Amino acid sequence: MKFYLETYGCQMNIYDSEIICSILLKSGFIKTSNLKKADIILLNTCSIREKPEKKIFNRLIKIKCFKKKKKQLKLGIVGCLATHYKKKLFEKLKFLDLIVGPDSYKQLPEIINKLKNNNKEIDVSLANKERYTNIIPKGVRNGISAFLSIMRGCDNMCTFCIVPYTRGREKSRNPNSILKECKLLYKKGYKEIILLGQNVDAYFWKKMKFFQLLELIAKTVPLMRIRFLTSYPSNITTNLLKVVKKYTNICKHFHLPLQSGSTRILSLMRRKYTVEEFLLIIKRIKTIIPDCSISSDIMTGFCTETQADHRETIRIMNLIKFNFSFMFKYSSRQGTYAYRKLKDNVPNSLKISRLNEIIRLQKSHSFYRLKQNIGTIQEVLIEGISKQDEKYYYGRNYKNDLIVFTKNKSKIGSYKKVKILKSTFTTLIGEILP
Ligand code: SF4
Repeated sequence: MKFYLETYGCQMNIYDSEIICSILLKSGFIKTSNLKKADIILLNTCSIREKPEKKIFNRLIKIKCFKKKKKQLKLGIVGCLATHYKKKLFEKLKFLDLIVGPDSYKQLPEIINKLKNNNKEIDVSLANKERYTNIIPKGVRNGISAFLSIMRGCDNMCTFCIVPYTRGREKSRNPNSILKECKLLYKKGYKEIILLGQNVDAYFWKKMKFFQLLELIAKTVPLMRIRFLTSYPSNITTNLLKVVKKYTNICKHFHLPLQSGSTRILSLMRRKYTVEEFLLIIKRIKTIIPDCSISSDIMTGFCTETQADHRETIRIMNLIKFNFSFMFKYSSRQGTYAYRKLKDNVPNSLKISRLNEIIRLQKSHSFYRLKQNIGTIQEVLIEGISKQDEKYYYGRNYKNDLIVFTKNKSKIGSYKKVKILKSTFTTLIGEILP
């Protein structure tokens, strides 16, 4: 049976798609990148916001026409949309055959086989233990940089967020299986590992905390670069900062979602920090690792957000000047506390105008941060040939800045010194040194 898999959403979903590939290939399924040749089409979905969800539903409507042409074709939704809507999806999308949540991928071969009897199948159970410990992901990596999930789920229950419902409670992975996967990636020629977790810094296995795991990984694969995301701000400890500072192969970059610059809004969101505490965390990071980059997630228009709250976000952004941010307008997610109890009362047009304002501001901050690199020499991991101009390579420095630079005979996957000549709003431009 041939399967076609399409992935939406975050890095965790990309990683999960690799897990799905691994499970299906091991059970004798064949992967195809041609939708028309598939016997089963799977969409690994995201439901964090309204926009990606709409995109997936539109895609499903398009894919539906393939079923008309090929009667035996099966269509399945896996990932967060599955656990968000559960069997309601069968009511909404009559042509759907399968719904499988993020903790049930091991059952996929068995579930797909059951579809032969024209049944509809669903498994959206959530686990309290990591279920993919010994599965080596396969299929969609770029050969240089690999994702590696070390924990899943979230216990924080932010009032706007659907993740604790779609991915369940926090579950960390056995460190031995993590180290085994790191060594395997090194052996296969990968140069960089990106450790993933909804709250990566909440990793906890028996007595082992995240900073201890990170140190073990840095020592186990000293020639590989290590990145990690996403960090929950109040989990950043001095021990973690000391480990990041000590090991040259750990990248000096933190992704710390601020969400809002108003303590009143943070409290409504049930974030576990005030604005003052967030600023202290930033100060502590910059004191221990002065030359690091900090990125963030910021949301506009959360329930009851006033102009004064919005001005606070602007003020905090101006104080911190994040290297970059992912910015969104709030969309209410069915099932969350905010959906049930809070008023989504900021008009959409206001959400959009506030969003546009913070996007413009962030653009100027990114430019400000990037410009500080002009004239410096950076060690860059070459990730590939620039899509805009094949006379250039692209890659990243240890702070996660994107750099486009002149090409020579250096191999993709090697580390090279690059002199930074100029900057755009998003990218550094440089020349490779001999
Ligand atoms: S920390 Fe909050 S926003 Fe992040 S995944 Fe958990 S509940 Fe969602």
